[in-house]
Parts: sequence; structure tokens; C-alpha cells
Amino acid sequence: MKTLLVDKKSGDSIKVKIKDLIIGGSEKIIISGPCSVENYETMHNIAAQLKKMGVNMLRGGAFKPRTSPYDFQGLQHEGLKILKNVGDEVNLPIVTEIMDPREIENSLDYTDMIQVGSRNMYNYSLLKELGAMKVPVLLKRGMSATLSEWLMAAEYILSMGNENVVLCERGIRTFESFTRNTLDLNSVAVIKQKYRLPVIVDPSHGTGIRELVPSMSMASIAAGADGLIIESHINPDNSLSDARQTISIESLNKIVEGVKILQSAL
Ligand code: PEP
Ligand code: MN
Repeated sequence: MKTLLVDKKSGDSIKVKIKDLIIGGSEKIIISGPCSVENYETMHNIAAQLKKMGVNMLRGGAFKPRTSPYDFQGLQHEGLKILKNVGDEVNLPIVTEIMDPREIENSLDYTDMIQVGSRNMYNYSLLKELGAMKVPVLLKRGMSATLSEWLMAAEYILSMGNENVVLCERGIRTFESFTRNTLDLNSVAVIKQKYRLPVIVDPSHGTGIRELVPSMSMASIAAGADGLIIESHINPDNSLSDARQTISIESLNKIVEGVKILQSAL
């Protein structure tokens, strides 16, 4: 087989530029925000606090891939508009999940980066569509995907001409059921050694338990991750989705400070 575009042998390490931000450079970047965009006021309150503490990018789901069709599905287009307004107001770039290839075109006016969620990592139509554009893509690992399958999903996007791909380790399903997923930090070390793409870690979905998020954030940075994506909320217990793994603003602030200290130590 030909050398894959994701292999280090194929070229320099990829740095993904989003406005003034570079993912995969010397700075560890922190993306945070609620699991779902809930309403303008909550989103704005959260974003203002994140900006103040030096978070680099804002997250929030408008189209939510919920396991049950009866759970909150996200505010959809209304959610995209809220995110865009809030991002502009606090001056933070945005990442949000798009599930349907038909929504990509419209979403480009609202988001700076498109998240491909764990459940859609194998959606090759979506990957090809994103590959034909220049939009930065945050490619989450499928919950049952091997490292090779995940890298091949990235290869789909690169081979269509879009090199603006950031991988995101978010934990995998194993026999362990104490935590929501098993956060595979081996993948981070392997990717940094052998592949060209930046990789960030999502310790929120990786653990499913907010008390574990600070320690796994530090472990991720120590393993070589280029950054973190963390679910946070001004009132975590009232989050409309993923409340149990969502951390408070105060807890996030400690992680942001911890990452700075760890980065200088490394
Ligand atoms: C999310 O980021 O809220 C999400 C649904 O993540 P994942 O696709 O990793 O489950
Ligand atoms: Mn979530």
C-alpha cells in the first residue's frame, strides 16, 4: 500500500490554523463549553468566563447525537446562531458537531471548525464532503474504532485535499464499566510518534465522571496531547446533556492553570 498521508514519512507535522489559533504548535490549546447550546444567556455567561480565564476556543452542540430519540436533540439551527453570536461577542472561535452532510454548507457561516462525533467517524459520505472543503475538522475517535480505523477516517479527509484535521481521543468501549469509556492515552503517544496530525483529548466523554476530568486532563498533556476539549457549565448539574461529566467554571480554571505549569515543566 502507498504511504498514507497521515504518516510522518509523507511530510511535516500538520498545524491547523483557526483564526489566530494554531493547533499542533508549541501552545497547548483548551477548548471548552457546555455539551449542548441551551439558550443565549447561559451560553453567553459561560463563554464570558471562559474567555476571561484564557480558554482558546468555544464548544457547544446544536445538533446532538443522543442515544435516545426522546432526549434533548439540541436547538439545531437556532443553536448555531446563538453560538455564532456568542463567539463573536466574546471573540472566541467555535467548534460544533455536524452530523448530516446536507448541513455542512449552511454551518460554514456559523462555525470555525466542524466536529465529526464519535458516532459518525465511520460516516464516509460526511468525511468525503468535509475533505472537499478547507474547513478545519475535529475528528473524534469512534467509540469502538481501532487506531487504524480512526487514522483511515482522517485519511479520507486528507486524501480529498483537506489537511486541516485535528484528531480527538474521547475514550473507547471496553469491558470496564465503572467509567463511561476507557480513555486510551496510548493512542496519543502513538500519534505523536508516528503520525502528522495534531491530537487533543476529551477527558469528559473519556471518563463520564466530572471528578476524574482534572487528573485525566493532566495525564493527557503529559502523554503529549496538543490540547484538551472539556465540557463545562456555570451550573453543571443543570446541564441539559452530559451533566455528570460536566465540570464547573472554577474546576476548569484550575485545569487551565495546571496545564500551564505542566507545559513549562515538560
Ligand atoms: C460531544 O462532544 O458532546 C459528543 C457527543 O461527543 P462524542 O461524539 O465523543 O460522544
Ligand atoms: Mn457531550
